[in-house]
Amino acid sequence: MTTHREPVASVLDTIGETPLVRVHASPDEVPVYAKLESFNPGASVKDRIGKYMLERMLEDGTLPEGGTVVEPTAGNTGIGIAVAAGQLGVEAVFVVPERFSVEKQQLMRALGATVVNTPTDDGMGGAIQRAHAIAEEMDDAVVPQQFSNPLNADAHYATTGPEIFDALEGEVGAVVAGCGTAGTLMGIARYALERNPDTHVVAVEPAGSLYATLKGDDSEEEAYKTEGIGTHDPATNELFDPELVDEVVQIPDRDAHAEVQRLAREEGHLVASSAAAASLAARAVAGRIRDGELDAPHDSVATVFPDSSERYLSKGIYGDFESWDG
Ligand code: PMP
Repeated sequence: MTTHREPVASVLDTIGETPLVRVHASPDEVPVYAKLESFNPGASVKDRIGKYMLERMLEDGTLPEGGTVVEPTAGNTGIGIAVAAGQLGVEAVFVVPERFSVEKQQLMRALGATVVNTPTDDGMGGAIQRAHAIAEEMDDAVVPQQFSNPLNADAHYATTGPEIFDALEGEVGAVVAGCGTAGTLMGIARYALERNPDTHVVAVEPAGSLYATLKGDDSEEEAYKTEGIGTHDPATNELFDPELVDEVVQIPDRDAHAEVQRLAREEGHLVASSAAAASLAARAVAGRIRDGELDAPHDSVATVFPDSSERYLSKGIYGDFESWDG
């Protein structure tokens, strides 16, 4: 089946309505479907929140016409906001901890934004503080603050969630997604639970991250390489509502790295480590539904592949695990 899109007026009109593709296909398995978010114009899931947050903030006057947004970001949100900012006449400044990929920072600059780096050791909390400090020094500057802004999750409640349910005609047994800000999972989960309160909701994070502790599980805090998901700092997990989540699954870096290679080689998906972590968690959930260990309302699992591996080639994502500079 091919759908032909009508011509559209702006790049902003190409955000969302991404493909939902069956992965791990095997006839006797419970199907897993992944939303391919690299099909967005800025090539990640974060285009959705860039467009949604800026449009809402311009509408309600939080962001003045011609104003500036200053945002702490690992990169994809910067690109998503920069795509929207450029088309909506808004200036953009991004505060990015040094460890994040240079490709992303180059793309933010290419889209007309200014990038400010903060030391890796200060973490995302340091970038958040710096963004507020920069905004205070400017007139007309606003910090959307994806880590605490409900509009982040609202974007997924309004778009990603309905798209998944429409594509699967409402037959969604479980939703599984990586949590960085947790906006993606919270928005999809809120929508899914309204459609069916029995939908099984699974958060995914790297081993060593602390979302599990918010759900009452143990987790030893440890550094990890998987990029874009996980939390080490309470300032980055404010959107996460444990009440909406049935379980938190941790994926070790080594497994995510191997799954990145497998997804490319066997399934043709050029996706990065957070997608690989989601893929493994979704497959495990599908296996438990198949084996009768997990009671889900339908025999299907939906997940999200947030971005593409092209963005991490400089970090050796397709090299061996030890030299992967995640
Ligand atoms: N994967 C990647 C590559 C990301 O950049 C992000 C956003 N930090 C996520 C997953 C997680 O998305 P969210 O912030 O909506 O939880």
